[in-house]
Amino acid sequence: MVISGVGEDFIRDIIIEDLKANKNEGRVVTRFPPEPNGYLHIGHVKSISLNFGVASEFKGICYLRFDDTNPTKEEQRYIDAIKEDVQWLGFDWAEHEYYASDYFERLYGYALTLIKEGKAYVCDLSQEEIREYRGSLTESGRECLYRSRSIEENLSLFERMKKGEFEDGACVLRAKIDMNSPNVVMRDPVIYRIIKASHHRTGNRWCIYPMYDFAHPLSDSIEGITHSLCTLEFENNRPLYDWFLDQLNIHHPQQIEFARLNLSYTVLSKRKLLELVEGGYVNGWDDPRMPTISGLRRRGYTPQAIRTFCERIGVAKTNSLVDIALLEHCLREDLNRRAPRVMAVLCPLKVVIDNYPEDQVEELEAINNPEDPLMGSRLIPFSRVLYIERDDFREDPPPGFFRLTPDGEVRLKHAYYIRCEDVVKDERGEVVELHCSYDPRSRGGWTRDGRKVKGTLHWVSAQHALEAEVRLYDRLFTKPSPEEDPDFKVSLNPESLKILSPCWVESSLKDAPIGSRYQFLRLGYFCVDPDSSDEGRLVFNQTVPLRDTWAKIEKLQKEKRRRDGG
Ligand code: ATP
Ligand code: MG
Repeated sequence: MVISGVGEDFIRDIIIEDLKANKNEGRVVTRFPPEPNGYLHIGHVKSISLNFGVASEFKGICYLRFDDTNPTKEEQRYIDAIKEDVQWLGFDWAEHEYYASDYFERLYGYALTLIKEGKAYVCDLSQEEIREYRGSLTESGRECLYRSRSIEENLSLFERMKKGEFEDGACVLRAKIDMNSPNVVMRDPVIYRIIKASHHRTGNRWCIYPMYDFAHPLSDSIEGITHSLCTLEFENNRPLYDWFLDQLNIHHPQQIEFARLNLSYTVLSKRKLLELVEGGYVNGWDDPRMPTISGLRRRGYTPQAIRTFCERIGVAKTNSLVDIALLEHCLREDLNRRAPRVMAVLCPLKVVIDNYPEDQVEELEAINNPEDPLMGSRLIPFSRVLYIERDDFREDPPPGFFRLTPDGEVRLKHAYYIRCEDVVKDERGEVVELHCSYDPRSRGGWTRDGRKVKGTLHWVSAQHALEAEVRLYDRLFTKPSPEEDPDFKVSLNPESLKILSPCWVESSLKDAPIGSRYQFLRLGYFCVDPDSSDEGRLVFNQTVPLRDTWAKIEKLQKEKRRRDGG
């Protein structure tokens, strides 16, 4: 994988050269052009941060353009969600919110120009026949009868298409280029089709709609875009992009292709994400397991972490698969500094401190984040009955187990040393309660006599703790490249969601706002889910566990480089 920082990639190199040559009078205008047919995903962020990033670095401007040319797939709610997501990421298109549908009249005019110059014709072949006539990579295409229609006939037929005189699919408008071109894209591509459907913005004004390959270069040109950045799949379409602009002799942006983001254990295609939503495999577009911006947001991702990730993966010309561990690493780095540390017990085991007075409650000071002294500290209550993590006690401890054992002593974080005196079991032999003693001289978690303990456990006071539901997430797919299978759904992870309840969190989280993020000590990062908005309910999403596999990978790579390079 290529990792490069901001300002050093082949696209920025091209722009620097263009600026030196005073191309476009020194202007840089880019655009992010989503089709409003689904929610944005992390792949789109690569394009967003590239387009907005380049514009701001070169004192240019980036537009948000909705590429809304297909009324059957597009909806207003997707437009709203896209705007919310781009804003949340921290990018600003100012007043430059544009819609391809605002250009329908002009695009229609451009099509008329092409017809009048003998460069476009109405074709009655069916979709299937068009495909057949087009040939293939090894086989040249064939011209159809309609190709030789007169300009007058084409003008009249296109007019009638526009008026709605023909049914969907009866005919299309095609560019007249070259049926023998080695590039299949150039074999008389379709530029207009009939769709008798109401458009979310233009209503029933139109029943012919431009194809992407036609609308895209012309929208770029109309807006005065200078650098049209798109993903590698469009490399073959570049000659067509150029053809329309050359034939119409209008402002000609430069199309530059870069590699799309592929992320391990993830699918990044709106069509497939829609399939997961509609098939009920996930709970909506913003399910915390989804790679959508809204899913990542609900999961607890910060915009900064996502933007740092996009900077670190850089922009290259060859496709690659990025390890999702890098995304998680960027998130941990950010949350480590940002998230207050609190205590929560996910699988509770009751602990009674027998020598602690029954009605006593003490307030102990706890630092909010050792990484940032400015975050201060808070007081947490300690009392006779506590919960600790069930996993933190073993009756028959394996070697190297430094947590609580019968007769063993551990430190309770911010509190006291405790020793396990007795284990209470139910009739099935399961441990239900521990009886412990505490050392009053170890307040704050330290003793003066230099006695050391190896383990430090997190805990909550049972009478003060708040009940919560905690949702644990694993990767949505079990395979690094789920899209390799004919049906990507076969590697869906059946255990990607685990719900734990009741869990207990410290009382300071009482009014934690929705979306706020915490480090649960020793467990990982968690955030408050919107489902908590029900009165008195607290629901946390696991954002990311503490263990950083990427840091481990980086360390191993560094060691290897040192060994190899001497
Ligand atoms: P999908 O494949 O998910 O349907 P798309 O390309 O059809 O994506 P658009 O709404 O047309 O979706 O995308 C808007 C912009 O985002 C385009 O310029 C597209 O190239 C870019 N983009 C989409 N997916 C990725 C990705 N995985 N990596 C980088 N850029 C992407
Ligand atoms: Mg697209």
